[in-house]
Amino acid sequence: MQPGTTGDDGPLQAATAAIVGQRGRLFDGCSTDGQAARAWIEGSDLAVEFPVRTPGGPETADLARGGSEAEDSPDLPHVPPALSCLRYPLQALALGDRWRSGPYPVGLPDGGTLWVNGDDPGLAGFVDALLRGAGRRPGAQRLWRSWPTALACLALLVAVLVWIDRQGAGLAAQAVLPLVPLKIDENVGKQLMKKLDADQFVASSGGADIDGLRRRFHEMAQACGQGRSYTFEVRRLREEPGFNAYALPDGTLVMLDGMLDVLSEEEALAVLGHEIGHVAHRHGMGHLLKAMGLLAVAGVVVSDFSNVLATTVSVIQFRSHSRAAEREADAHARECLARVGIDPRVMVGLWMKFRAERDRRGGAELPAWLGSHPGLEERLRAAQQP
Ligand SMILES: [Zn+2]
Repeated sequence: MQPGTTGDDGPLQAATAAIVGQRGRLFDGCSTDGQAARAWIEGSDLAVEFPVRTPGGPETADLARGGSEAEDSPDLPHVPPALSCLRYPLQALALGDRWRSGPYPVGLPDGGTLWVNGDDPGLAGFVDALLRGAGRRPGAQRLWRSWPTALACLALLVAVLVWIDRQGAGLAAQAVLPLVPLKIDENVGKQLMKKLDADQFVASSGGADIDGLRRRFHEMAQACGQGRSYTFEVRRLREEPGFNAYALPDGTLVMLDGMLDVLSEEEALAVLGHEIGHVAHRHGMGHLLKAMGLLAVAGVVVSDFSNVLATTVSVIQFRSHSRAAEREADAHARECLARVGIDPRVMVGLWMKFRAERDRRGGAELPAWLGSHPGLEERLRAAQQP
């Protein structure tokens, strides 16, 4: 029954302007003893009407005890006429979302709460009217209550996440990279080297004489390092000499014993020129930003690096750069070699040695340098071009 729609409710006739009206139970915020109430919307206010309690007086009818029961109750006309009515601006109400059936709580600005009966058929419309009056969008919660809509939204979310993984993160990383100060590259590189030394590397066996290589490397780094400073380190893996080379974002280049054992000095310089290219173009940081988003930057900025370090290691060590980044680094290597007077076609021999090493390892898991992204055949063809 809506207040004001029948003449039986006496004082409730005052609510002739009511849009909708509901029964409920009013708690004043001080005691746990609620009392029956009726509420309706009048203009931009919520009107709440409840019987005035008189000490020692007769029990009032419980208006909140179920709509039909209360409406049909012969006691209802005997509700004492002493009713009190309070009005609250809709904008001042504290309203939640109505997710399931059950009483709906309306927080009142005086600290009280009105629990609107959940089993009244008009509740949904009443709550919508409350939300609309309070400047909220009731449609949004109705939308989420609909399973097909929720599933469609979920599918859309998954599609967006897939796009972010494949395209968006890369684009975002490229956009953000220029804003990341080089100081962060240095911090990441140093932490990463410590982690690799602690977990995976051991000192080089020192089998190869690398004094000449080291000297020529520094000469080359000055010629094509684009102003960054570089360090050349040699290590081996715990279980094997290892056939790989790494560029850390701070300019630390690491070559493993297994690669040094196989390559000539000029071929090793070609590999180092390639790694200089990755540092100069900040491919490692771009890759890291893409993989980890801004979390990595935030972690470095707040110096809480532990939670991102493990992922960083895997990004640097196991994930190859994009094909475009590898091509860029190869081109950089050719330029580096040319600047120190080495014929870039030395890379033909380099790729052939890599191909032989890859074949020798067969189906075993290959380090990024020997992996198929980009293919060694493509690199070989590019190196053979004049
Ligand atoms: Zn590379």
